[in-house]
Amino acid sequence: MSVFGSRMFPGGVHPHESVNGKAVNGGNAIVKLPAPPRVIIPLSQHIGAPAKALVKKGDLVKVGQVIGQAGGYVSANVHASVSGKVWDVQPCLLASGVSVPAVIIDNDYKDEWVELSPAANPDSLTADELRKIVADAGIVGLGGATFPTAVKLNPAEGKTIEKLVINGAECEPYLTADHRLMLEKAEDIIHGICIVMKALKVKEAIIGIENNKPDAVAAMTAAAKEGITVKALPVRYPQGGEKQLVYALTKKKVPTGGLPLDVGIVVCNVGTMYAVQQAVCEGRPLIERVTTVGGLVEKPGNFMVRIGSTVEQLLDACDGLQKGVKQLIYGGPMMGMAIARTDIPVTKGCSGILALGEEAMEPKESACIRCGRCLRACPMKLMPAKLDALSRALRFEEAEKLGVMNCMECGACTFVCPAKRSLTQSCRTAKKVINTRRKQAAEKKED
Ligand code: SF4
Ligand code: SF4
Repeated sequence: MSVFGSRMFPGGVHPHESVNGKAVNGGNAIVKLPAPPRVIIPLSQHIGAPAKALVKKGDLVKVGQVIGQAGGYVSANVHASVSGKVWDVQPCLLASGVSVPAVIIDNDYKDEWVELSPAANPDSLTADELRKIVADAGIVGLGGATFPTAVKLNPAEGKTIEKLVINGAECEPYLTADHRLMLEKAEDIIHGICIVMKALKVKEAIIGIENNKPDAVAAMTAAAKEGITVKALPVRYPQGGEKQLVYALTKKKVPTGGLPLDVGIVVCNVGTMYAVQQAVCEGRPLIERVTTVGGLVEKPGNFMVRIGSTVEQLLDACDGLQKGVKQLIYGGPMMGMAIARTDIPVTKGCSGILALGEEAMEPKESACIRCGRCLRACPMKLMPAKLDALSRALRFEEAEKLGVMNCMECGACTFVCPAKRSLTQSCRTAKKVINTRRKQAAEKKED
């Protein structure tokens, strides 16, 4: 039995330290980047309905001004991250390849802010008032999921929340943004957690941190307040997956197709908690975030970057690329997306930009040798090899019956496969086709 006892979820993989890049990036303190000459701020950078533009070409805006209003209950406000003139409102390309409307602002370098209204006494605010501040500030899950936080803080009637689980695992190789934030802003993060505990009316919060960050465990433990505990977790990808984290910390199993909410738990990322503290105590909306830039760049680092800066500006901040870069990745190496251009904006969910060499090359696939490694690695207890075969044969209904919709696209199966089969991609394709079919069926029904 491991020293962590039962604090372990089924499946998962352990990318070796020599390839995970954390040793290089982890020591880099957060550097605040100067605001760029122009920002591209997408109106859809969260889960849910796109925000609606509140500005037009030629308008003057201030930092922190709402330029996109939440387009529904599950949506989020979008704010100007520089002061200046709106150059245009036009489509821009996201890392996913999808084109969405964006507000493009030319920086006037005056850094003029809207008037901020920090709460005079945060502890006296009601749960409703706290939720409103979080909603107004446009806060979404900064771990990458980008689900609007105010919605998470407002559980449906009949759902009782017992615990708050905080994700400080940062299990993807290379990424160290959360690690640095926990070292440098531990007290603010803990304050954010206290605020969310109040909004959810819960008395207990557990912070899970992988044990390759002992300094972060120590910093968060020292800052923790009553009702908040910090637990060190074994290094195992995807430890930071919501379901895996909930199981590792509470032993509760989130039902298939369900949410942590179904077992009385809300999960939030440490970066999100910092954003909540900033919104409530400083009155600052979400206009910047910490992003790791790593891999084959001259000076890897962690940067506090204005939302809407481009990948190119981040790479420049690292003094550019080294030789041998084969691929740029937006996000982590396991769940991130390959990008072919550098004019893509940094959005609220961007935890990292990586420049990878040979390891990023599409490996040559060979036939499945039925070794079963993918089966053992899958944290969702799926059968990746079988799902891969069904997806390639376009037998999506059978893949659905075998639970492909529960695939969290973590990439663990692809990582361990000795035949280099693109198992995650097959699952992703199947999910896309099934989702499209479901949508079409629903539309047909409505007609
Ligand atoms: S990508 Fe999907 S099938 Fe593969 S290990 Fe992760 S959850 Fe399982
Ligand atoms: S890991 Fe690869 S080779 Fe092994 S069973 Fe799975 S798909 Fe086949």
